[in-house]
Amino acid sequence: MVERHKMYINGEWVDSESGEIFERVNPANSDEIIGQFQKGNENDVKKAVDAAENAFEYWSETPPPKRGEILFKIGEMLKQQKEDLAKLMTWEMGKVLVEARGDVQEAIDMTYYMAAEGRRLFGHTTTSELKEKFAMTVRRPLGICGLITPWNFPIAIPAWKLMPALICGNTVVFKPSSDTPLCAIKLVEILEKAGIPKGVVNLVTGPGGSVGMSIVKNEKIRSVSFTGHRDTGATILKEAGIKKVSLELGGKNPIIIMDDADLELAVDGVIWGGFGTTGQRCTAASRVIIHENVKAKFEKMIVERIKKLRLGNGLDEKTDIGPLVNRAAQEKSRNYVEIGLKEGGKLLVGGHIPEMKGFFFEPTLFTDCFMDMRIAQEEIFGPVVAVISAKDLNEAIKLANSVEYGLSTSIYTNNVRNAFKAIEKLEAGLTYVNASTIGSEVHLPFGGVKHTGNTREGGILGIEEFSEVKTVYVDYSGKLQRAQIDIE
Ligand code: NAD
Repeated sequence: MVERHKMYINGEWVDSESGEIFERVNPANSDEIIGQFQKGNENDVKKAVDAAENAFEYWSETPPPKRGEILFKIGEMLKQQKEDLAKLMTWEMGKVLVEARGDVQEAIDMTYYMAAEGRRLFGHTTTSELKEKFAMTVRRPLGICGLITPWNFPIAIPAWKLMPALICGNTVVFKPSSDTPLCAIKLVEILEKAGIPKGVVNLVTGPGGSVGMSIVKNEKIRSVSFTGHRDTGATILKEAGIKKVSLELGGKNPIIIMDDADLELAVDGVIWGGFGTTGQRCTAASRVIIHENVKAKFEKMIVERIKKLRLGNGLDEKTDIGPLVNRAAQEKSRNYVEIGLKEGGKLLVGGHIPEMKGFFFEPTLFTDCFMDMRIAQEEIFGPVVAVISAKDLNEAIKLANSVEYGLSTSIYTNNVRNAFKAIEKLEAGLTYVNASTIGSEVHLPFGGVKHTGNTREGGILGIEEFSEVKTVYVDYSGKLQRAQIDIE
């Protein structure tokens, strides 16, 4: 019996007005249906926005420490349910269990961080150029926030948006990816049980083109926070009108390996960065830029490691690499392998869809790639890594920077001058030294430059994303004082 799930609007679990549903299959076994979900439409979004509008006054006037107490409870509940949520996530989108646990842990970390923020939400006080005048800033919520999220971190990414939005006093309309509606429903169930008042968080499931676009275009919504594909982000930016639009988009992240690097460590980093989450991370390392002196040695070492990686259902603890999220993603990886071969890349290992039920793809390594190849430029979002050779650090940095994206970067080197030069010159939101391109922590900013987007989430910058700053002047001189004019 396949379970039919509902959406959450104004504190009620409801069907869509459309009367339509969609199904999600298990990516590790495409014969198995995970559940049936409501195919929301524009009217559902409208109802959700109205509910969020009605709830705004009460929620924004609730003292932030009180809001923080509810968030703390959400954190406790996420912690208690971590294992169940992780298993559900692996079932729904395929990532291996150990990584799914990490995904839930990230949500727990973010929730606790933001809960405590309820007793901070700092503004600034500063001096005035005039006597007997006081100047400060205070934070205010934005209003109704539209949150549109992808499937690859189906609990962590919603938490990175929901928790700062809520602690700042906003109300929310949340649209998750149609590949992971169940994780979103379970997360919202926790929010409801922890005491988030009705109308404060509303969940509308359904297609991006209709539900997502209705959120983007809605004039009552003051801010859209989007994580997803670069092209979707560009469309959203065009359609959103005058509202705040925060975009976290794709990446084509390089690992630079210098000839003075610890090669064992670098191989570990490339395996984790390139093939962790089956290459489906915005921070996945899809390019290795390697010093020509160590290229042959590195390739020999990594090919041996790749051949040992075990594909399988992520619920099996012995599995290293789970399936891709859906058939389209599997086809995309296969197409890019064909493109890579046509472009003259040399396939060292992998490249095929294995004989398995589910959307699996072999971990794949191309070498002898050049930066004008599509496999070196475009985000594949699968387990396909391109190796590119460089003669020195300057060339490596130039190659690393010669893509449209700028999210995460890494350098393996034992030379402090190389490390600092890379930190200075790499065009990216993140640079790791002697670590892979993956490993963000919730209290530090996260985001990218160039086509990767226009924002930073995480830590205090998450608060910036979901609040507005008001400047306040208090003049206690008892006379007219004119700034820039009445200065002594
Ligand atoms: P996607 O852009 O296809 O979908 C993301 C969300 O947008 C989904 O909820 C989808 O339904 C919705 N959507 C689709 N079309 C829409 C439209 N026209 N209007 C409004 N909403 C619409 O992305 P995806 O396949 O779910 O996720 C993978 C992408 O996300 C990759 O490019 C990856 O790099 C990126 N990503 C970025 C980050 C980051 O923080 N920079 C993190 C994770 C994933």
